[in-house]
Amino acid sequence: MTGVVASVHPAGSLVAAAMSARLVKIVDHDVIRHNLDVLRSAAGGRKLMPVVKGDAYGLGAAAVARTLVAAGVEALAVDTVAEGLALRAAGVASPVLVMDLDVPENAAACVAEGLTPTVAAAEHARRYAELARDRDQPVTVWLRTNIGFNRFGPRDGFAALLDELAEYTGRLRFAGLFAHLTSSAWEEAETAAQAAEFADRLAAARARLGPDLVGSLAATHGLVHAAALRGTAWIRPGIGLYGTVATSARHLSGWPDSGLDRLRPAWQVRARVLDVVTVTRPEGLGYDRTAPVFPGQRIASVAIGFSRGLTASANGFSGLLHGRRCSLVGRPGMDCTQIDVSDVPRARAGDWLTVLGTCDGATVTASELADELGCSPYELMATFHMPVSHTGLPPIPHTEGNGQ
Ligand SMILES: *Cc1c(COP(=O)(O)O)cnc(C)c1O
Repeated sequence: MTGVVASVHPAGSLVAAAMSARLVKIVDHDVIRHNLDVLRSAAGGRKLMPVVKGDAYGLGAAAVARTLVAAGVEALAVDTVAEGLALRAAGVASPVLVMDLDVPENAAACVAEGLTPTVAAAEHARRYAELARDRDQPVTVWLRTNIGFNRFGPRDGFAALLDELAEYTGRLRFAGLFAHLTSSAWEEAETAAQAAEFADRLAAARARLGPDLVGSLAATHGLVHAAALRGTAWIRPGIGLYGTVATSARHLSGWPDSGLDRLRPAWQVRARVLDVVTVTRPEGLGYDRTAPVFPGQRIASVAIGFSRGLTASANGFSGLLHGRRCSLVGRPGMDCTQIDVSDVPRARAGDWLTVLGTCDGATVTASELADELGCSPYELMATFHMPVSHTGLPPIPHTEGNGQ
């Protein structure tokens, strides 16, 4: 959330300025627009509901949403009611689907702010039908169905569920049916089977809840499978918008035609070099002297540590300094981490280390960094908490006059 504060008050906050002079995540909105175009072509005329959950995967949901809305997306998707409310508070008026089930206490705020809740069972439909009755206005909902993800909604008994839900069609408008694929980043056969199951459920839902109900199955990696698009009206891309695709997806047969190799990284991370120490004795580094160091070795402390997502599980962490790869020595600290700059004689306090992104022709990708840290690119994006600097943002629309 720090990122949002920094982006909303670029110069107004001393704290944000002091933080971003040390460590910054740079988000390029021209690249987000480019990626949106790539995803739009891959979607073949379907509507886009880009996913800005997890503070837009750590890039700043309010800013990213502003770019997406200005670029004409038809809706947005988040995980939680709180995330949807934050978008409304930031002046986003578009339809917003809350994809996960939330706690009953948040249902009234969801409806009052015009967010679109997800239902997966009759009890959820009853909850929103009661709110519709209180408001004397129908509530629009999407139905989430479980085709093997097993996080939300019953796996079996879909026809019986539709019979129960049909009782609420007066109070509720069932706008769509969606499901999440389990293996679209690497598995063709399983994805095809899940897509077939989804198609059957979509046909049944239309027959029971109304012919206007539409379907949505593909997220980013679903776009690589023709089967996951067939018969659907919406796509819900997240990570692709930010420029990352699972390496495994490049081996899928649909990859060449998907056009997704045109996606470009939309964010970079740079951390400042705080000091460079030349080792003079065969001692160790940090607590317990865990890492041995040797005379002549040059150790730079850089302004990123585990409080910013560079966790102690880091084994192969490296960054780019003057175009050279420099590797971690010892273990990350709270706010700084040490790298070996013995091969970079020019290294000085005040330099910027490229933690992620491109420097003098060399690049560290999100997938590479995630591999080094032993996490997925999704986890990397969500745990790298630091000030965000936005380039290429569209102007603030004048309807957003709430002083933010
Ligand atoms: C996160 C999520 C998405 C977006 O997935 P990506 O792989 O980031 O494109 C779409 N749908 C649901 C239900 C999600 O949870």
